[in-house]
Amino acid sequence: MTEDKPRVEALLQAMTLEEKIGQLTMLDAGGVTTGSGRASDLNTSVRAGRAGSLLNLVDPVQIRAMQRIAIQESRLRIPLLFGLDVVHGHHTTFPIPLAEAAAFDPDLWRRTAEAAAAEAAADGINLTFAPMLDIARDPRWGRIAESPGEDVLVARRFAQAKVNGFQGRNPAAPGSLAATAKHLAAYGAVAAGREYAPVDISERLLHEVYLPPFHEAVRAGVAVIMPAFTDLAGVPMSANVTVLRDLVRQQWGFDGVFVSDYSAIQELINHGVAEDLAAAAALALRAGIDIDMMGGAYEHGLSIALKRGAARIEDVDAAVGRVLALKARLGLFHAPDKGDTFKATDPHLRQMNRSLARDAARRSIVLLKNERSLLPLDPEMKRIALIGPLINARSDMLGPWSALGDPEHAATVLDGLRSALPIAQITAIEAMDIEGQDREGIRAAVDAAAAADAVVLCLGEDRSMSGEASSRAHMDLPGRQRDLAEAILVLRKPVIAVIMSGRPLVIGWLVERADAVIAAGFLGHEAGHALADVITGHWNPSGRLPVSWPHAVGQIPIFYAQRPTGRPRDPENHFTSKYLDMPNDPLFRFGDGLSYTSFAIAALRANATTLGPKDEIVVDVEVRNEGSREGEETIFLFIHDPVASVSRPILELKDFAKIELAAGETGTVRLRVAVEDLKHLDADLRPVLEAGVVEVLIGPSADRARLHQITVEIVAEAPIS
Ligand code: BGC
Repeated sequence: MTEDKPRVEALLQAMTLEEKIGQLTMLDAGGVTTGSGRASDLNTSVRAGRAGSLLNLVDPVQIRAMQRIAIQESRLRIPLLFGLDVVHGHHTTFPIPLAEAAAFDPDLWRRTAEAAAAEAAADGINLTFAPMLDIARDPRWGRIAESPGEDVLVARRFAQAKVNGFQGRNPAAPGSLAATAKHLAAYGAVAAGREYAPVDISERLLHEVYLPPFHEAVRAGVAVIMPAFTDLAGVPMSANVTVLRDLVRQQWGFDGVFVSDYSAIQELINHGVAEDLAAAAALALRAGIDIDMMGGAYEHGLSIALKRGAARIEDVDAAVGRVLALKARLGLFHAPDKGDTFKATDPHLRQMNRSLARDAARRSIVLLKNERSLLPLDPEMKRIALIGPLINARSDMLGPWSALGDPEHAATVLDGLRSALPIAQITAIEAMDIEGQDREGIRAAVDAAAAADAVVLCLGEDRSMSGEASSRAHMDLPGRQRDLAEAILVLRKPVIAVIMSGRPLVIGWLVERADAVIAAGFLGHEAGHALADVITGHWNPSGRLPVSWPHAVGQIPIFYAQRPTGRPRDPENHFTSKYLDMPNDPLFRFGDGLSYTSFAIAALRANATTLGPKDEIVVDVEVRNEGSREGEETIFLFIHDPVASVSRPILELKDFAKIELAAGETGTVRLRVAVEDLKHLDADLRPVLEAGVVEVLIGPSADRARLHQITVEIVAEAPIS
C-alpha cells in the first residue's frame, strides 16, 4: 500500500468533484442482465466515473466486463470494488453464524470464512459485507441468525476469526476479500426485537457489550465497517459522530472505510434528522461515512451540500483517499482481476469445501436432550419414520443470506439418513408445509410413526423466517407443526426432535415430551449428512448453545450475564424475584449441549492466588472422559467480581477451550485470562482494574451449579515473587 500512496495522491489531484463523488457511490447491480437497459445505464455510470463500487453483481463474466470498463474506459482508470453478502459461504454454504457459533471453535470459524472468500474471490468479488458482529440477546429479532449469539467474548473471537479468514494475511492475495464488520452498533438491541426499531441502551451496555466485538475487528485489521440502520438514543448511526468519528476513527485508530448500510444515508430523512438528500449527505460525511450504498444521497446531495457550505471538500477528499487506499490495499491497481488466478469451478476446491462444510455442520449441532440414551440410534432399529415439513426442504437447509448456494445440491435429512442407513426402512412423510394451516397430512404421519421403531421429527422455521426484516413476536413452531408433533408424541414411540431454525424457539412442551432433541440451526449444504452422522453415532455431538433458549417470549431479553438483584438470595440462586408463572431461568442456558459420553473435571490448578495488573490468570483444568466413547468437551472460564465499585454480572465469560479425549482418557486444558481483561467501567464509565477478590468459575456451561470455583486476589501492584 505504501508504494500506492503517491498514486492515491496523484489521483486525488486529478479528480473532478463528480469523479470524487463517484468513488463514494456504491450502486446495486443485482439482477442486471447483459444487454439490458439497466446494464447500459450502469456501464455509462462506471465509464463516467460516477460509481466506484457495485454490489450484488455475481456473474464472473459480467464482473470482468464491468471491471474492464472501469480500468480501460473511465478517464482515471480506477478499478471497481465488487461487494456482496458472503456471510456463511459463497457457492458452498456453511452453517449460519448462530449455528456455527455453537462449535466454539475459532479455527473452524476462520477456515469457513477463508473457504467462502476463496470461492467468492474466484468469481471476482473483492469485498464481503460480513462478519455481522451484533450481539443478540433478543431472539425475536430475525438477524440473530446472522450473529454469533449473546456473549461478548464469543463475538470478539468470532470477529477476529472471521476477519482473519476473509482477509487472510493480506487481502490483496488471491482468494482473499476485504471484510466488513457490521452493523455498528447495538443493532441487536432494537426495542422489543422489532426490526429497524429505535435503540436505547445505557452507555455501559454499549461500551461493555456491544462495542468490543467491533474493537476486536479493528484490532484484527478489518478493512471496512458498516454502521447500522438504527439510531442510538436518537442519533442515527449513519450520522453518529461520537461513535464513528470520535471513538472508532480517533480513539481506536480505524483508518479503513465506512460503508453505509443500504440507502441508510438517505434514510436520515425518515429518521427525522435531515430535511433532504443534501442535508443527509452532509450529516453522514461529517460522521465519516465514506461510501454511500444506494439511496443516492452522495450522488445527488453531496455537491449541493458543498455549495450550501454544509459539507467540506476536505472531508470529501479524505473519504475518497480512504476508498482509494482500500482499493490499493486490495491490490486492485496492480491486479484488478484477481478472479483469473483462482478457479471458482475447480472441482478440487469445491470438494474440499464440501468436506469442510460437513465438518462445520457436525460441529455446529447441539444435542439438548437424550433420554434413555435414545441417541445414537440403535442399529437394530430398522423401521424409521422421518416426519415433518423440514425432512426434505432443500433450500431451507441453506438458511438466510446463502449467497450463491444452490439448493439443488443441499443434502437434506432424508438424503443423509438414506445414505447412512442403506438397509433401514425409512418412511418419509412431510405431512404439512412449514407455515401451512392444513392438517390433512397428520393422519399419514401418525400411521407411519405407529409402524416405526423410532421417529425422527424435523420441525422448525423456513429460511425466510430469520435474517433481515424477519422479526417474530411468537417464537413457537409456525403453522400446524405443534399439532403434528402432539399427534406423534401421544403414540409414545421413541421420538427424536430435530429443530431447524434461525433463532431459539419456544418449545418447552416438546422438549418435555420428546426423548431426544437436537438444535440444528440451518447447517448449510451438508446439513443432512451432518445430522445423519449425529443420529447414527458416526459423530459424537459437541456443540454448545451460544444463546439462551427462553421458556416463553415474556422472558426476553434473557441471557446468562445478568447482574444480581439486591434482594436477599440463596447462595445457589442469584435471582430471587421470580415471575409468578414461570422460572427466571431459561429453558436452555448458554453453553448447554450434551455428548454421547460424559466428562468430569478432575482437578483445577491456578498459577497463583495473588496477581498484579500485568499478570495472567492461568488455570490448568484436568478433564476426564468418563464414558465409553471418544468425544470433545468445551470448558468455559467465567469470572465474577463479588465486591466492586459497581454491580457486576454474576458470570462473565473470559476464556473457553475444547479438548478431545478418548474413552477413559484424562487430559489437561489450559485457560487463561489477562488481569488487564478484568477491567470494567466504573460509575463514571472509566475503565478500572479494582483490587480485591475475584471468583473464577470453570465448567461446561453457564449453569452455576456445574461450575467449579476458585478465587484469586487482584492487588494493585505486582506481588513480590
Ligand atoms: C443489510 C446489510 C447488507 C446490505 C447489502 C442491508 O439491507 O442490512 O447487512 O450488507 O443490505 O446487501
